[in-house]
Amino acid sequence: MKTFDVAICGYGPVGAVFSILLAQYGYQVLIIEKNEGPSPTARAINTDGEQLRVFDKLNIAEEIVANSNQIENIHFSDANLKPLQSIHLEPGETEMGWPNQVLFYQPELEGFIRTQVNLHKNITVMESSTLTNFSNNDKGVELYVKNSRETINIFSKLLVGCDGASSFVRKQLNIELEDFGYNQSWLVCDAHLTQEISLQNALIQVCDPKRPCTFLHGRRGHLRFEFRVMPEDSMEDFKNDDYIWNLLSPWIKRDNAVLERAAVYKFHACIAENWRDKNVLIAGDAAHQMPPFMGAGMGAGIRDVANLAWKIHLLFQNKASHTILNTYMHERFNHAKWTIAQTISIGEIIEGFCAAAEGKEYNPKSTGYAAQFPHISEGIYKNSNNGINGYPIPQPSIQHHQRIIKLDKVIESSFTLIFQSSKFSLSQKAQAIVDLLNIKFLELSKEDDPEKRLNKIFENYEYILVRPDLYVYGATSSDNLSDMIESLGDKFSLKIKP
Ligand SMILES: Cc1cc2nc3c(=O)[nH]c(=O)nc-3n(C[C@H](O)[C@H](O)[C@H](O)COP(=O)(O)OP(=O)(O)OC[C@H]3O[C@@H](n4cnc5c(N)ncnc54)[C@H](O)[C@@H]3O)c2cc1C
Repeated sequence: MKTFDVAICGYGPVGAVFSILLAQYGYQVLIIEKNEGPSPTARAINTDGEQLRVFDKLNIAEEIVANSNQIENIHFSDANLKPLQSIHLEPGETEMGWPNQVLFYQPELEGFIRTQVNLHKNITVMESSTLTNFSNNDKGVELYVKNSRETINIFSKLLVGCDGASSFVRKQLNIELEDFGYNQSWLVCDAHLTQEISLQNALIQVCDPKRPCTFLHGRRGHLRFEFRVMPEDSMEDFKNDDYIWNLLSPWIKRDNAVLERAAVYKFHACIAENWRDKNVLIAGDAAHQMPPFMGAGMGAGIRDVANLAWKIHLLFQNKASHTILNTYMHERFNHAKWTIAQTISIGEIIEGFCAAAEGKEYNPKSTGYAAQFPHISEGIYKNSNNGINGYPIPQPSIQHHQRIIKLDKVIESSFTLIFQSSKFSLSQKAQAIVDLLNIKFLELSKEDDPEKRLNKIFENYEYILVRPDLYVYGATSSDNLSDMIESLGDKFSLKIKP
């Protein structure tokens, strides 16, 4: 029987990114995918600076940015495209070390990821193969994979279902979805300009009560349109090209653009109530789904696998017990739920403007859109509310060994302690943890961070401990340094040698 360390069901963007993160640690990874080739149609179009840092681990962030568009404004407009509320976006690098909003073309992005997958000899891709059953026991998972000729029996230490919204893995585990009751159908159209025309470099949420819609200016003339399906609509109309071109007419015409596709999607807002059963876990759309108003669904999935990969590494190195895998859901669940709530809030802003246009009152169910930077509240030192612990560490380009290099390239998916003065001593237990985790020490003088991106933290703290997924575990003074490092032991079920 063929044996793997991790089997991933689903070769969508989340499964593909996960396979590389694991392969970089040297593990034997299997991807099982029922289709052949990347999905030919774009769904996700937007990514942010935090995801670009994960893509940078895969060495494709620069390629993605080079093949993307950065919009300058988000407008909530009336039916005549007159802005009612606007958010200006500064293009270019942010404190994440990358732009904070880039619009890509998904088939191209998946191509970039798959090129990297193919470079890893320890990733086996089985396409046109469907996971049809599995048995999950204490030792690992026995998988049954069916292709056109046979059913193959495979053993893997772990199985991770990155198998999308109607996840087979989630259903087999009888995991229920918590439904937030925000389910809508939208017609999604992708078009490409065939000649230059003047279109706003913007995302426009058109708050037209007759038919709310979204316009997004993607890269190299790729345009995304989303139109809400209204109760009186006939699905037959959406199969009619003339009908679609009429919807697109405020922006493009047949003589300046081609229509790639028009398809109706049902948007859901829901989260799986459990993300792990023994050696089987779920990630990405299998674990959570959200309307695309914030362009964050794939991003949430990429955050999942960035969180999970290093924990699996500690488990397989026998440095942590199996319970470390429970921290994955504990850390990711609230964050994913927060992201879903944010996307619902954007939908409610649209509905609010639509109601106002008709002179109707509208009372949103949620508490409103708060544009806080996402963070995790578990898996960090003292669960502090200092706006630092549990947030991605800002990324300066630093002076390091006589060259300028991005901070992430120094951290390289390792626990890293960053400080300005190296005068510290550690307790025996803290030192044992430093040795167990091979925690990197990075001394950075003020001059080494000319962009001053870490100043905000160093104004209040002396030591910053960064997790392999680039989230700050904790920031503290020298008095508490040993305590902070020691706390990693319980937090991640480490097997510390006496
Ligand atoms: C219109 C629209 C716009 C969006 N815009 C954005 C955006 O701008 N930004 C963003 O971040 N997100 C966006 N999203 C969400 C994003 O597309 C999804 O969150 C993302 O594709 C999920 O990726 P995934 O890898 O988890 O799942 P999927 O991409 O669905 O991949 C799952 C894979 O699993 C395979 N599979 C399923 N069952 C089996 C089985 N039993 N055996 C083998 N293979 C199996 C499937 O064939 C599929 O290839 C958007 C979604 C939509 C619909």
